[in-house]
Amino acid sequence: MQVKQELKQEKGTTGVFRKEKEGFNPFKMAQQQFDRIADQLNLDEQTRELLRNPLREYSFSIPIRMDDGTIKVFRGFRVQHNDARGPCKGGIRFHPQETQDTVRALSMWMTWKCSVADIPLGGGKGGIICDPHNLSEREQEKLCRGWVRQIARDIGPVRDVPAPDVMTSGQHMLWIMDEYETIMGGQYPGLITGKPVELGGSRGRTEATGYGIIYILRELLKEMKMDIAKTTTSIQGFGNVARYSAELLLQYGGTVVSVSCWDQVENRTYSYYKKTGIKLDELIKITDRFGTIDKKQAEKLGYENRPGDDWLTQDVDILIPAALEHSITEENVNQIKPRVKIVICGANGPVTPEAEDYLEKKGVIVVPDFLANAGGVVCSYFEQVQSNQNYYWTKEEVLGKLDNKMTDAFYKVWELSKRKKIRVSDAAYMIAISRVAEACKMRGWV
Ligand code: GLU
Repeated sequence: MQVKQELKQEKGTTGVFRKEKEGFNPFKMAQQQFDRIADQLNLDEQTRELLRNPLREYSFSIPIRMDDGTIKVFRGFRVQHNDARGPCKGGIRFHPQETQDTVRALSMWMTWKCSVADIPLGGGKGGIICDPHNLSEREQEKLCRGWVRQIARDIGPVRDVPAPDVMTSGQHMLWIMDEYETIMGGQYPGLITGKPVELGGSRGRTEATGYGIIYILRELLKEMKMDIAKTTTSIQGFGNVARYSAELLLQYGGTVVSVSCWDQVENRTYSYYKKTGIKLDELIKITDRFGTIDKKQAEKLGYENRPGDDWLTQDVDILIPAALEHSITEENVNQIKPRVKIVICGANGPVTPEAEDYLEKKGVIVVPDFLANAGGVVCSYFEQVQSNQNYYWTKEEVLGKLDNKMTDAFYKVWELSKRKKIRVSDAAYMIAISRVAEACKMRGWV
């Protein structure tokens, strides 16, 4: 498998927090979000203390002999935020700007994501400070094996289950699994998820995040008495999440007028617009392995080539930011057209809190990332169940179960949001946090 070619952003994950460079701390933000909801839930002091910090964190060195014979020491992390509801779950990121606080924040968000989706897993996240673009395949394999050698006794099918994330792929997961099995002396496919289907992966995992978004959108539109087949949507991104969201939305008869993509050669983003709606197959055919759509061929097919942020300013019913964090901000939120009724977050953190306030005041429904993109981790959970049983389901079975889980999660949140007259993201946080708090109480921790 060509690891270098696969250095894509995994579904539903966050890349660099741009503001981190300007002193922004994602963990502080995660704690502030938590504190606000803890106040509303009247959580007691002990529960707050327990949930606003990770239960356990590990940071360690990974010495690697590089291809040129020199030794380089990398820094690795694993943070287990909470496992009251089940083993920790969350990805491993390869990132040159990885920090302990980023991993802490992401592990906390995984706890809420698993909880709002009501799967019996907690939250974790891991990472290695590195840029895999500058590492050979062999060096990446050594890094994966080195990472698991340091943490093997503290992860596992009943403790903490990693998965792919930013710049890590199924191949990385297999190297980690193989090293773990060598250390433990047995077969443990339930150690890790995001594995290729040929070796313990789940069917439907590729589609899961994008489809999950559309299952929720479908139900939300029903509640809003809008016919999905009459809606128009603009999508930011053309990676895995964006493509599979578009695929299912088109199957339901919706129209997608715009997508955007990263242009690998020009180092900038472009939007592609077609008034009558995109055709997914023809666009995929002219997209290279880095996700760049061929400008000339797109124009020949009748797509207008526009600046990267043009997707945001379309006169549509629905916006799906499915590429980057901090895409809808205080600065550009007023460019969103009055017709837009729904913003459903495919990426992690695409809407800043200020922009969300503005949208809510305008009556736009914002479906938060940790609910909308939970399809990825729900399918990871299904993969773990299948791997632990060593018995694998059909794609239809997986997607059917995914649809049920996402639909249930949405209605629980929607009903609370209606009943308490609160925004959807607050309702989602309330459900997620109170379930975890309850589990901690039932265990007698607080
Ligand atoms: N990395 C994905 C997420 O952030 C999936 C995590 C998992 O499957 O464990 O949701």
